[in-house]
Amino acid sequence: MKKYRLPILMLVIFETVAVTLWLTKDNLFYLFNFSYIGLAISLGVFLFIRKYKYARRIVQLLVGLYMLIYLGLICKENMQIEGFWYYLFTGVFEAATIHYAVAKIFGPLIFGRGWCGYACWTAMVLDFLPYKEPKEPGKKLGWIRYITFVLSLIFVSALFLAGVGNLERIMFWAFVVGNILYYVIGIALAFAFKDNRAFCKYICPITVFLKPMSYFSLIRIKCDKEKCVSCGKCKRVCPMNVDVTDNSRKRQNGTECILCMECVKNCPKNAL
Ligand code: SF4
Ligand code: SF4
Ligand code: SF4
Repeated sequence: MKKYRLPILMLVIFETVAVTLWLTKDNLFYLFNFSYIGLAISLGVFLFIRKYKYARRIVQLLVGLYMLIYLGLICKENMQIEGFWYYLFTGVFEAATIHYAVAKIFGPLIFGRGWCGYACWTAMVLDFLPYKEPKEPGKKLGWIRYITFVLSLIFVSALFLAGVGNLERIMFWAFVVGNILYYVIGIALAFAFKDNRAFCKYICPITVFLKPMSYFSLIRIKCDKEKCVSCGKCKRVCPMNVDVTDNSRKRQNGTECILCMECVKNCPKNAL
């Protein structure tokens, strides 16, 4: 039973959020939404512990498709960063802002960039591409994320300052067009750099929130130095170029870790 502590912990955290929001906001949607996501994630962690090869991919599809199709396209909720700014400016603490607070701002203090490994609908598609293990070390292009971050803020601020009407509709179409752009750029970069996660490393504006918060993450991959034989396999299979053998928080690319567990699965000495 001890080995199932993590999926149980994840379920408890999400259920606590689900029930708290349901009762405080008097809206059953939150109970359904966070219970569904918590169940999907816990199922994935459970399957991983049972050594099922596609555990993480199942969670990505369950959560990613739910958010993209149901919340985004059917409920017309802009869950991208523009949606976050939009709801923040309107002072509405609803789905998109709560989603950001839980998954991308405060949640990473507990589960790091678990969002990127298990729930993001952009990476859900990128992870199907052929370059799961980057062929080269990461490039120094991370500064681009700050430009996309600022551009998203300018875009939404301009809509407000210009007093544009029908903002709900514009935000819906911004979600559709934004996602198409993300997919096109993400797939092009993956092939150009032979790295599925190039978009995550250099372009994604959400990492401006995710990276500093995940620095303090409670859940981290640690290396047992007694067992490690420095074979380097963990670094070769890591999609995010993390030096996981270094246990310090300042390890190379430490805030890039998406908790995908590829290093853990591939370590020949069970040192991780
Ligand atoms: S870095 Fe951005 S695109 Fe990549 S998985 Fe995280 S949120 Fe998604
Ligand atoms: S794969 Fe395991 S044994 Fe090899 S370097 Fe990484 S932690 Fe050490
Ligand atoms: S392979 Fe290991 S270090 Fe790299 S992102 Fe996945 S869990 Fe993190």
